[in-house]
Amino acid sequence: MEYYFAIFVFFVGLCIGSFANVCIYRLPKKMSIVKPGSSCPACQTSIKPWHNIPLVSFIILGGKCKYCGTSISWRYPIIEFICGVMFLYAYYDLFYLNNNLFLFIVSLYLSSVFLIIFFIDLDHKIIPDSLSLSGIIIGFAISFLPGMPLDWKGSLIGILVSGGLFLAIAEIGDRVFKKESMGGGDIKLAAMMGGFIGWKGILLVLGIGSFLGAVIGGLSLMLAKDKEAARTIPFGPFLVTAAIIVFYWGDDILNAYLRFVGL
Ligand SMILES: [Zn+2]
Repeated sequence: MEYYFAIFVFFVGLCIGSFANVCIYRLPKKMSIVKPGSSCPACQTSIKPWHNIPLVSFIILGGKCKYCGTSISWRYPIIEFICGVMFLYAYYDLFYLNNNLFLFIVSLYLSSVFLIIFFIDLDHKIIPDSLSLSGIIIGFAISFLPGMPLDWKGSLIGILVSGGLFLAIAEIGDRVFKKESMGGGDIKLAAMMGGFIGWKGILLVLGIGSFLGAVIGGLSLMLAKDKEAARTIPFGPFLVTAAIIVFYWGDDILNAYLRFVGL
């Protein structure tokens, strides 16, 4: 029985991933994410529902628009697949193992929003307020649900400490490096994350995010032909990746660290 539900959750994840693609494309352009329906970016032909099945359609159509033959980016099915896998893991960890329905639903929300932020920030170097500011409210609101890792005080402190910490880093960074080191979007995103994972969580996010940024930023600086583009990789994708890691394994990492330093 559980297998059927796991497959269903994976499929829902693929569909939400398909919707995430729409958001990634349209939110930065301030277009409606509901209307009109999907169309081919090249020939504008509207896409029929049966050509819009996540993953399946991409494979059947051979990665091309059925009407004009323009190649469809590999990113679309990859984003759908990542979303499906994140939903499946959320189900396994939070519902199957821990039987926490509310936290399972919260994790589906975070997976989707963080996935959208990852690619919008990567493409446009912005993090839409519609995602981060609404997330601050949602993070605080869900702290009143049963079975949450933080109570409302923990969530509120998380929001304030995270926003304040990132604001301070941005201020210091601006003065030391004489250019914008961290944008307002990162600060609002940090405040949102703090509402879900608390002030300890955000310290871990900052550590892990900086580490990922240094490693991947360094590698791309070495490998990239366009050095200037590699130098201006946004911080948001690393922050949301770190936040997902901390959301699931933050306590384990923290405990391992405390054991390591002998506390
Ligand atoms: Zn087309």
